[in-house]
Amino acid sequence: GLADRLQNTIQKIRGKGKVSEADVKEMMREVRLALLEADVNFKVVKQFVKKVSERAVGQDVMKSLTPGQQVIKIVKEELTELMGGEQSKIAVSNRPPTVIMMVGLQGAGKTTTTGKLANLLRKKYNRNPMLVAADIYRPAAIKQLETLGKQINMPVFSLGDQVSPVEIAKQAIAKAKEDHHDYVLIDTAGRLHVDETLMTELKDVKDLTNPDEIFLVVDAMTGQDAVNVASSFNEQLGLTGVVLTKLDGDTRGGAALSIRSVTETPIKFIGLGEKLDAIEAFHPERMAQRILGMGDVLSLIEKAQANVDEEKAKELEKKMRTASFTLDDFLEQLGQVKTMGPLDELLKMMPGANKVKGLNNLKIDDKQIAHVEAIIQSMTQEEKSQPEIINAGRRKRIAKGSGRTVPEVNRLLKQFEEMKKMMKQMSGMQQKGKKKGGLK
Ligand code: GDP
Ligand code: MG
Repeated sequence: GLADRLQNTIQKIRGKGKVSEADVKEMMREVRLALLEADVNFKVVKQFVKKVSERAVGQDVMKSLTPGQQVIKIVKEELTELMGGEQSKIAVSNRPPTVIMMVGLQGAGKTTTTGKLANLLRKKYNRNPMLVAADIYRPAAIKQLETLGKQINMPVFSLGDQVSPVEIAKQAIAKAKEDHHDYVLIDTAGRLHVDETLMTELKDVKDLTNPDEIFLVVDAMTGQDAVNVASSFNEQLGLTGVVLTKLDGDTRGGAALSIRSVTETPIKFIGLGEKLDAIEAFHPERMAQRILGMGDVLSLIEKAQANVDEEKAKELEKKMRTASFTLDDFLEQLGQVKTMGPLDELLKMMPGANKVKGLNNLKIDDKQIAHVEAIIQSMTQEEKSQPEIINAGRRKRIAKGSGRTVPEVNRLLKQFEEMKKMMKQMSGMQQKGKKKGGLK
């Protein structure tokens, strides 16, 4: 994938004490190919390569102490810029309800995303949304939204499929005012392709409801097509944001990089699965870090903070960064990790995680956690802080003491080593970004 290719290229330049123009040129040739292969729009690639090259061969980079790192930093900054720079906000109308119109082609994920977004608005922002079933064409579309509404216990406004979407939207907004809903999310119809009839109808709904946001939902798997779809919807309707769905799938990732610069419309959210909580705000910088294999430390920390107190999370972050993580820490974290969700999920967000072969073996369930705890508790203090001294004899003793087998002890030690290796790759990580304001 894109990440792999870019990371290989970066690896070559990372440690260089001196970077020549030829080095930069070679690296940019690789970057260019990697981006094109990931289905990034060729104009976007051209501009990107030009910009990075110009900056990278500048005097301040060439003369700096760590030119390799500087070049990577520039690539990261420009990738971030390409995806919009800052995280963007969701509108808040000063005359509620705030109206969000969801548009897009059939199968892109509109209905699902409507449910996800409503769920997020309530859970994260404490809002009180209402859903509107305005897709009267797709069989069972209304039912689908109603089912989603039930799952998240959210009201769904519908008038069946014999009333026009414009009329549905009109009555829905009146109803939302009456019931004091602060957000109205309108799920509209899609077609298999962009066509006149669809656009005319969407324009009618837009003219009547005067929405605060028009979110285009696009399937990230469709690559360049997603960009073309975004362009035509934007021309016709004037989008305020894009939701990129199915990023959990095997996408080449090009859409995320092209959409913003081609349409000038920010990506606001990403969909990462079929479940109703599989949605995240889009952070350009984090995405750039992910692409470059710098991992997503910020997401990791955010996740940790949601479950663990802040002090502990900071400590965890520092230990990870400095890779001064012992088996004792591991044991202490296990208890907390249990409440943070699957360990392998968390680890995957760490820098260089995609390079670690044994990562899949790191899947640890609750029962295993108890076993791991028993094994670590059977170690001496010395063994816990210097696992490398644990020889065959010690392994046998530990296995006996914990009631586990020697292969289990071996596996744990190996996993711990992998984890530490991964953590080492986190050195040189960026500091937390500082962002403020609005519904984020
Ligand atoms: P619509 O026609 O645009 O309303 O699309 P739907 O909301 O009905 O979604 C179409 C299919 O895509 C459904 O099977 C969804 O479960 C699935 N889907 C939507 N978003 C995501 C996502 O982020 N990841 C994955 N894997 N599937 C998704
Ligand atoms: Mg739908």
